[in-house]
Amino acid sequence: MKNDDSPCLLLARDGIFPVTRDIDGNPLPSPPASGFPFPGTIQGEGKLNGIPSLFVRLAGCNLRCAWEGSACDTPHAAAGATGTRSLPAREVAGIVARNRDNIRHVVITGGEPLLQPDGVEALCHALRRHFPFHVTVESNATRYEERVAGVADLMSLSPKLSSSAPASAAGHHAARLRPDVIQRYISHARERGKDFQLKFVYATGSDVHEIHELLASLRDWTNEDILLMPLGNTPALSRQNAILAAGHAIRNGWRYCDRLHVSLFGDREGV
Ligand code: SF4
Repeated sequence: MKNDDSPCLLLARDGIFPVTRDIDGNPLPSPPASGFPFPGTIQGEGKLNGIPSLFVRLAGCNLRCAWEGSACDTPHAAAGATGTRSLPAREVAGIVARNRDNIRHVVITGGEPLLQPDGVEALCHALRRHFPFHVTVESNATRYEERVAGVADLMSLSPKLSSSAPASAAGHHAARLRPDVIQRYISHARERGKDFQLKFVYATGSDVHEIHELLASLRDWTNEDILLMPLGNTPALSRQNAILAAGHAIRNGWRYCDRLHVSLFGDREGV
């Protein structure tokens, strides 16, 4: 699309997925990574687990997560990502809309989408000019962007616990957890009748203690908003942590959250 004055988004290399058509509706040369001959996948994590969805993955992140035995699960979208491309938000929305079929949920993820607040806000507006999509914005919750909170239906917040910190990255440790930012998203959602979720990766027993400490500093959440997800970007690692994560979720009254897309499709980009 030429002369598009809508803000540009820096997309990861699997930036709009899974899709089978370009913006004009022409078939793409290769099938999507899902293996299906049609667009869409399922949301594999969180309150909307299992819902048919299309994803927009943005590139770049301000954190450097590296758990023991598992690095960032989206290295192709994290800091220093290669194969990125820049596209106007309006064009991204046009491609999503061309691949909508019966799908009404769009997930904007990363990387860290809130590094590109202008583009995310513009994308939400552009999407809804095509169709009244439900939009989830996934974030590590280290930056408050009111305009994004205002246009998202669900803010999916994934605060990072100390088990996410590589020994070599002091900057990560200092930046990873912002209770003040998390509280602003919660308060915004409560005041506007919107939804949010706090999704934690379970890697070790000390994570549970840290979650309790964080929750004690926050207000206006319920147990249904708290999700515990096993560490694991492969089916084998996810299974290894799953039963422990489920046990802690049950004992604390939180939700257990699987990684359904990993179970279904394995450790693949673009699903
Ligand atoms: S916040 Fe997410 S994208 Fe960024 S490094 Fe951590 S796991 Fe990766």
